[in-house]
Amino acid sequence: MLNLAPYAANPEHSLGRKVPEAPPEHRSEYQRDRDRIVHCTGFRRLEYKTQVFVNHEGDLFRTRLTHSIEVAQIGRAIARALNLNEDLTEAIALAHDIGHTPFGHAGQDALNSCMSEYGGFEHNFQSLRVLDILEEKYAEFEGLNLTYETREGILKHCSRQNAKTIGILGERFIKQQQPGLEAQLANLADEIAYNNHDIDDGLRAGFIDTTQLLQVNLYRMQHDKVMKLYPELSERRQIHEVIRRMINHLVSDLIETSQKNLANSGVKTIKEVRHSPIPLIGFSSEMQKLSLELKQFLRNNLYSHYRVYRMSNKAKNIVTRLFETFISDPGLLPVEHFQKSKKMESENGIKGRARAVADYIAGMTDRYAIAEHSRLFDPGQLT
Ligand code: MG
Repeated sequence: MLNLAPYAANPEHSLGRKVPEAPPEHRSEYQRDRDRIVHCTGFRRLEYKTQVFVNHEGDLFRTRLTHSIEVAQIGRAIARALNLNEDLTEAIALAHDIGHTPFGHAGQDALNSCMSEYGGFEHNFQSLRVLDILEEKYAEFEGLNLTYETREGILKHCSRQNAKTIGILGERFIKQQQPGLEAQLANLADEIAYNNHDIDDGLRAGFIDTTQLLQVNLYRMQHDKVMKLYPELSERRQIHEVIRRMINHLVSDLIETSQKNLANSGVKTIKEVRHSPIPLIGFSSEMQKLSLELKQFLRNNLYSHYRVYRMSNKAKNIVTRLFETFISDPGLLPVEHFQKSKKMESENGIKGRARAVADYIAGMTDRYAIAEHSRLFDPGQLT
């Protein structure tokens, strides 16, 4: 890797894997993590999971898979500009949404409330659970046996209660410390990606329009530039030109602000990054304000649009009904999941049973959840 900064994650000084393995021959440790992620089942399922829109709305919208690829692209560009580790950033970005339930936030909220008496459900924690335990592929270990740094990056948030159950990985949530810089930047690359593609998808779906968007400063600034340069441009190309410039604006601000933060902090090692009282990768305060305005716009106009709300309500009903049915009678689960639920129940009582049901539901794609719901409740459907 060229020009790795001294405070970047260096694969040769990784804190290692849970089960020690011989180093890879022709790849770095983080390249190996990324490759394992790309080949896992949870990664392929991202194609049929959505964040805001549902898959059957059309083929033009982002899915969690295309979202994760966009996050990786933005993340790698920032990592390279800051001399941070691109491979690690890419691994984190590609896996960051792997524990998400079907139907985006509506599905997550529904499953969390179903699980309230059984330890709750956090999608970040579930991502780690998928990668550490639920992917059963390798002969010598459970899960993908990823490096500490990749796992640290994936666990963006974590409750204190869950943090206590995962050893040193959970300590930073208890001590309120920072993760490595690649984790910090993957988190912000995620934010840049979804704010911008939600505008694009929202416009395509007709849930918001360009006139409304002119209220948003971040959008209007780039819109005015594009209109001045290309007054005759068709609307479709105009939107793309504005959005690509917005992404560029955000990325440039993030790179320049982070360069200043890193220089001012004087950090020299990843250990010092982790002990820094504040995150070092970030936007300027002006950009934070602009970004907040955009988020509020999306919240008020897109995420609360009645059609999104209807779909969220439908999603909540499907997830809740599946959960209630399976927890009251695990015999209705497919054999493999029924076996798991029996085993987990023998170890941890009703909480174990509930966790097995939550794992099964969280792993579903949007369309699988809809199909499973009809198989259970529609008398005309084959079971
Ligand atoms: Mg994301």
